[in-house]
Amino acid sequence: MPRYFWLQEDRVATSRHHGDFNAAHRWRLPGLAKCPGCGATWSSSGHMYPSVDLSGLHEQDLFLKARSAPFAEFARLRELVRPLAPPAATLPPGTRFGPLVGTAQGDLGPLSWQGSYLLLLRRDTMEQLQAEGVRGLMGVRAELRFRQKHPPEMLELQLEPGGLLHPQCLPPDLPLACATCGRRGLQLPDEPILDGASLPMDRDVFRLGNYATVLVGTERFMEAVRRLRLEGIHFQELSIR
Ligand SMILES: [Zn+2]
Repeated sequence: MPRYFWLQEDRVATSRHHGDFNAAHRWRLPGLAKCPGCGATWSSSGHMYPSVDLSGLHEQDLFLKARSAPFAEFARLRELVRPLAPPAATLPPGTRFGPLVGTAQGDLGPLSWQGSYLLLLRRDTMEQLQAEGVRGLMGVRAELRFRQKHPPEMLELQLEPGGLLHPQCLPPDLPLACATCGRRGLQLPDEPILDGASLPMDRDVFRLGNYATVLVGTERFMEAVRRLRLEGIHFQELSIR
């Protein structure tokens, strides 16, 4: 049975590099203001598609600012984006698109995190991982303005949803997702368990489809990282059922 690991920032390792960046994705779907089905006002986390380019949409201005919108407007905007997004993308409120845009300074190291669920790889890091046989990596150049003369090229990993938390690690009385907006209000369990039948076979890094802030890597990914002595990722093995 293949092994799978929850990927998180190893802060001890990343703090050795004295650099940081401040950036956001160029476009986003609005958050939802008071769903007519469940009444929730909400926005998602972890749904990010840096390769999706909305510059061709007449109404791209409506995607530039963080805001919330009534359901009808949210749903209309989501339909404008859907043909441009990967087929597996669920596109909840707050989904991000386009490259990261912002500023950076200092040495970001071979890899850098934003929060616990966005991973930037320096171009040579990405190439080394691919040369080690890691499958399904897709990097999109982050548009970071550095102060120094020869800045590194940093790529954001586009991680698509694949694999699910197993129902056994979720509360038995968990309500169904809202039929209107899809919100389920899931809390991450203390001991996440993966649903073995849901795991993608063609990729070595992905996000959970029902908990997009959890990044998962295969044993092949972990071994490649170890062989390359890449620091900055903490691996926690996940149970599978
Ligand atoms: Zn709802």
